[in-house]
Amino acid sequence: NKDLHEIVDEVLATGKPVEKDIIVFVGADKLFLQTRAVPLADEHDRPIGVLVVLNDMTRLHKLENLRRDFVANVSHELKTPVTSIQGYVETLLDGALDNPEDARRFLEIVARQTARLDAIIDDLLMLSRIELKTEHQDISLAQVKVLEVLTGAVQTCQSRATEKNIRVEIACDPALAGLLNPNLIEQAVINLLTNAITYSPENTVIAVSASEHGHTGSKNRLVISVKDHGIGIERDQLERLFERFYRTDKARSSAQGGTGLGLSIVKHIAIAHKGSVTVQSEPGQGSTFSLVLPQ
Ligand code: ADP
Repeated sequence: NKDLHEIVDEVLATGKPVEKDIIVFVGADKLFLQTRAVPLADEHDRPIGVLVVLNDMTRLHKLENLRRDFVANVSHELKTPVTSIQGYVETLLDGALDNPEDARRFLEIVARQTARLDAIIDDLLMLSRIELKTEHQDISLAQVKVLEVLTGAVQTCQSRATEKNIRVEIACDPALAGLLNPNLIEQAVINLLTNAITYSPENTVIAVSASEHGHTGSKNRLVISVKDHGIGIERDQLERLFERFYRTDKARSSAQGGTGLGLSIVKHIAIAHKGSVTVQSEPGQGSTFSLVLPQ
């Protein structure tokens, strides 16, 4: 490696320590190495070589990039409604206030964008609270009736479903109990249901179901699924759905009041339960999202 040779040459020439970050390619992978080189001497202080210590910073570097992308995304997502609010308020102040019809329309847009800002901030706060609790293993789990949790979530989403004449069916044994945090799981099901309603046409059916599956050699799993007959998702998008702010169709999601954070909240709620979330989808046919929770 040319950089490494240069570092060694410099230490040999100057007799002084050198510190540098270098990038080494290993196949298709890039390694970020924090490199420290110091001169080595024998007992008579004669130079006999160079000691080089390499610290692999690749993982930290990736985390730092993730953090930077996240901050850039948040800023962009917050900036969009703020710019719109600013624009309409200025137009109002510049005279549109005198025309009651325009004034009303513009104020309605301002109200909508303010609600959007509020939704993004709420979702971000919820994400960070769940992450913090997961980190400190501070999630309280209890044996609760799953049907009660599902019914609570369906009730919360009922008016949205009714608006589109969508029927939400629940299939769950009333006796089924699960080890879970009811508030968080209700929130996760609300997010999945909200999406199912948003991305389904009118007059369709959404099925919410729960059942426990035994696994030889490991814990039983409680599986909670939300199945819709909506627009579905292309295969190449499936992997990215759970990323923060990822949407397959930005304009459609924003128009429906989506923040792009709903599914990453679901994912973090699953992780808080040491579980996972999976998706199966067929474009034009519908999607099934499942929470898999070890018991
Ligand atoms: P949003 O607030 O945009 O709904 P989510 O994180 O909840 O954000 O979902 C991310 C994206 O995944 C959505 O923008 C949409 O493209 C896609 N998606 C989620 N649920 C469904 C679904 N049931 N059917 C089709 N697409 C979906």
